[in-house]
Amino acid sequence: MKYTIAVVPGDGIGPEVIGEAVSVLRAVGDRFGHDFTFNTVLAGGAAIDAFGECLPASTLEACKAADAVLLGAVGGPKWDHVPGPQRPERALLGLRKELGLYANLRPAMIFEELADASPLKPDILKGGLDILIVRELTGGIYFGEHVTEDLTDELRTINNYPETAVIHAYDVEKYADFEIERIARTAFDLAAKRSGRVTSVDKANVLDTSRLWRRTVEAVAKDYPDVTLDHMYVDNAAMQLIRDPKHFDVIVTSNMFGDILSDEASQITGSIGMLPSASLADGNFGMYEPVHGSAPDIAGTGKANPIATILSAAMMLRYTFGLAAEADAIEAAVRSFLAAGYRTPDIAGKDTDSDKITGTQETGSIIREFI
Ligand code: NAD
Repeated sequence: MKYTIAVVPGDGIGPEVIGEAVSVLRAVGDRFGHDFTFNTVLAGGAAIDAFGECLPASTLEACKAADAVLLGAVGGPKWDHVPGPQRPERALLGLRKELGLYANLRPAMIFEELADASPLKPDILKGGLDILIVRELTGGIYFGEHVTEDLTDELRTINNYPETAVIHAYDVEKYADFEIERIARTAFDLAAKRSGRVTSVDKANVLDTSRLWRRTVEAVAKDYPDVTLDHMYVDNAAMQLIRDPKHFDVIVTSNMFGDILSDEASQITGSIGMLPSASLADGNFGMYEPVHGSAPDIAGTGKANPIATILSAAMMLRYTFGLAAEADAIEAAVRSFLAAGYRTPDIAGKDTDSDKITGTQETGSIIREFI
């Protein structure tokens, strides 16, 4: 089969880790007989330098024309002075919006070999951990009305009101039932292919948006008799992720709760250099990127861990192209890399042999060999 992938290397370590993920995909293409075409385009700081804007129309067009997008990371101190609308990070918001990416998938997986890197006790993690957080990405409080008002003059007219300035601010959380329904379907579809459990996280004891969330998720659940559903308040979910993370298989939640819980879950795994993510639109289109940023502190040193990006490429094969065996092959190769004792500097322990500590390119080439 032929697949076109728009590749956005970005800034800092982005181009370094993307280079390895692309050559891993080429290796998969060779082994399984697929024809991957890579169309490399600029976004973020690199695009500001070349075109004076963080998300040029040509980049957007290339992404829309592709079957999927693979992105490194954008941003860095070089562009800190750039004004708001053209900041490198705005490229991500623009891509999400223009590509209609409403479902953010963040797996929190622990490879057995790296269990020591987790801050949790080994008995809590016995047998590994594999959670998938499905976060609604285009609605909720981040996209509602944001208002800051100075009420000083108004309130001074009230007798006895103190002679101080009064400023108030509010942010509006709004969800439509169809937005909840489509993210719930994404979560149930994914759970049906995994261990068949969905936990929906909300704050239905306090928020109307959460009560609508809960009702809508329950209605969707009726179409998935083989998937079990439970509900959890977000404060409890934050606690259970630490106390009993194995309770969870797929977690589905709103934009803000998902933002917070997915960062919490990523810490359980112990290494940001290992965590992939996907953002999906209707149909099977998706954008795939590591969870980490552009790591300017190690850019150019050859030390960046490319595994998060390589695993993001595996997610692309699984979710957009439906190539499960090929995705399995990448994940198995990463496991073999770790089982053979290799470690990038960020995941190396004090007992790691120095000749087993691998740089970005060596990591990519060992993983390719395992494939
Ligand atoms: P970061 O994730 O880039 O780095 C945090 C720490 O983790 C650093 O010490 C870094 O060296 C380390 N690290 C990150 N990825 C690594 C890897 N693959 N291998 C080894 N070590 C790794 O976060 P930050 O420092 O807060 O942000 C740096 C820049 O990246 C900022 O401009 C920020 O806005 C941007 N950023 C972009 C994205 C994105 O493009 N999706 C996400 C987060 C941050």
